[in-house]
Amino acid sequence: MATERTLSILKPDATRRNLTGKINAVFEEAGLRIIAQRRLHLSQAQAEAFYAAHRERGFFKDLVGFMVSGPVVVQVLEGEDAIALNRKLMGATNPANADPGTIRKLFAESIEANSVHGSDSAEAAAQEIGFFFAGTDIVG
Ligand code: ATP
Ligand code: MG
Repeated sequence: MATERTLSILKPDATRRNLTGKINAVFEEAGLRIIAQRRLHLSQAQAEAFYAAHRERGFFKDLVGFMVSGPVVVQVLEGEDAIALNRKLMGATNPANADPGTIRKLFAESIEANSVHGSDSAEAAAQEIGFFFAGTDIVG
């Protein structure tokens, strides 16, 4: 295992219900460090670009609409095996299938409004971190 960095997003359903602290506590209690963090309201163009890989999926338009429906918190998490650890802490995409104790089981409202995003590979993490943060914004 190696120290890794991953991109996390607290989605609009989480900011709307004032859950950012509770979700960050899950990360920190699991040993992940929040080494960069910013709250912003994504533009339509930003959301479409971020989810470009899903452009052909039937849920793309709804997903983009949801992601611009309120503020998000983008963050860089760092720790041992951070990419896989964060995916484990998040739980399955559909909260109905998520394991007990995972963020999505605890907090998600639906398969779309599922509270968090996490990079799914080292390549995605590097690309997604660069999408939101300059190197000087990240203080490990
Ligand atoms: P994320 O990429 O947000 O970390 P994920 O990797 O678990 O989540 P993806 O398959 O990459 O899931 O889908 C991206 C996002 O699109 C999901 O998190 C969810 O918000 C939304 N989504 C995925 N599948 C559906 C669906 N069938 N209906 C509606 N929204 C969906
Ligand atoms: Mg994904």
